[in-house]
Amino acid sequence: MSTGPSLYRRHRPRTFADVVGQEHVVRTLENAVTQGKVHHAYLFVGSRGTGKTSMAKILAACLNCVNGPTTEPCGECESCVSIANASSLDVIEMDAASNNSVDDIRDLREKVAYAPVSGRHKVYILDEAHMLSPQAWNAFLKTLEEPPPRTIFVLATTEAQKVLPTVVDRCHRFDFGRPSVEQVATVLTRVAEQERIAIEPGAVALIARQSTGSFRDALGTLEQLVTYAADQTIQPADVLAVLGVADAEQLFEAVEATIARDPAGALRAAAKLAESGRDPGQLLRDLEVHGRELLTVQVLGEVPRELRVTPERDQRLAEQAQALSETDAVRLLDLVSGALDATANGAQARIQLELVLIKAATPEADPSVAALLSRIERLEAALRGGGSLHAVPAQPEDAGDGAPPQRIAARSGSAQAAPQLNEEPEPEPTPDPVPDLDLATIAASWPAVVDTVRGENAMVAALLADARPVAVSERDLTLAFPTGAAFLKRKAEQEDHRRMTAEALRTVIGQALVLRYELREELDVEEQAGTGVLSGEELVRRFLEEFDAEELLDEDDPEPDGDR
Ligand SMILES: [Zn+2]
Repeated sequence: MSTGPSLYRRHRPRTFADVVGQEHVVRTLENAVTQGKVHHAYLFVGSRGTGKTSMAKILAACLNCVNGPTTEPCGECESCVSIANASSLDVIEMDAASNNSVDDIRDLREKVAYAPVSGRHKVYILDEAHMLSPQAWNAFLKTLEEPPPRTIFVLATTEAQKVLPTVVDRCHRFDFGRPSVEQVATVLTRVAEQERIAIEPGAVALIARQSTGSFRDALGTLEQLVTYAADQTIQPADVLAVLGVADAEQLFEAVEATIARDPAGALRAAAKLAESGRDPGQLLRDLEVHGRELLTVQVLGEVPRELRVTPERDQRLAEQAQALSETDAVRLLDLVSGALDATANGAQARIQLELVLIKAATPEADPSVAALLSRIERLEAALRGGGSLHAVPAQPEDAGDGAPPQRIAARSGSAQAAPQLNEEPEPEPTPDPVPDLDLATIAASWPAVVDTVRGENAMVAALLADARPVAVSERDLTLAFPTGAAFLKRKAEQEDHRRMTAEALRTVIGQALVLRYELREELDVEEQAGTGVLSGEELVRRFLEEFDAEELLDEDDPEPDGDR
């Protein structure tokens, strides 16, 4: 029997009136006691710390109190006191996790045969009931079906689906809901008052939120904090420290960098988070919680009560929720969820954290639908700010008809599905400089282009990693290689590789561009500076390793096509 932290033991509810939440269970059990219709077998289902065992003991006290049966046990008689301090001979707690053998059950069966000692009812509480083996259940089934008079079984489990259906059928089942954050906070506040623990309301709210619906976890944290804070008033920062949760300020900063589309800032934020010494996996989960809160605030249009911590922090949350678009909030959660999956499969959490933040900060580096939506939203924002619709990377026929901006994506889709309706499928080159086509934008998106190519062909991606976009004019883009990498340039120019690159560019940047290739001395410096990019030589070596013999023969041929 796990007893839990001592605060939890001392403050567990002793009467139905003490129970917070679980109203339906309380009402049904009260009626059963009042009407003398207590069933002989109950199945209490619910996650840990929701008060299943406490409820079973309250039921026992109701039946065995000197004033009983009563729905208000006195709490003072010998029976009530012995049940409260777990010394009652009529209330037997068993942990199925450690007593799950057939022998244990035979033992139990023999004990059940004895009549109640002093009280009116014997109550057996079998915790973690799903841990009993099928053999043990079979040995127990007969007893459960026809128990001796005034014998009550309460089976408690966190996993009802693992309990044999024949057993479930013989029990009255109650599902214990997780208490809300507010209910946990209520209990925390009450216990703190009774124990004269000085704690700030913001700290109570934080504990309640982090306890994910477990009174036991919440009171366990409070108990740790009493030691941690010594005689000082417990502050929200103490809760963060004890729980090892990411500093809220750092999470805000990280998300701010993604809103600012600042991948470097995002990387700095990730480093700051990681340097806090907290487990990177936990940081990812904290980021997930933060992202979910932002989304909640967006959907509700305000910070709901259960998320409130301190007025300053609530204000900040509301502001950030407003600054972040809903699409980006959803995308952030998607990214975190993918990262958590990857971590579960052995990926390094720290790297995953960095990737999440960088990807969140650079939707243009991500060809997924969510990222495309994010780009569209940004363009819409630019339009509202007086920009030109030509920034929308396709379908000029959408420009003039006054369609609401959020329909642009859908219309583009249908236009693609029916190109024959479109007399002029190619967008006209625009006389104005097109904002999406400046060199800086393409350069910023270049890693994403390389990544996209990598999905097709890793070696071509390796070639392109050494190239840099150096010039853009109208529809032409020049890619330059260091002078020592003529071989790489030639490979990159091959028709299929060129096509692959142009395709990736169109996916990422949203424009079809004609590619030119050249060698430039200025890139040699960058290469020598050791930017982390493979040296030309190393790349050639890998290239030769990876490509098959046919490719190698091709390499000796004269250049397959011209400079374009
Ligand atoms: Zn009593």
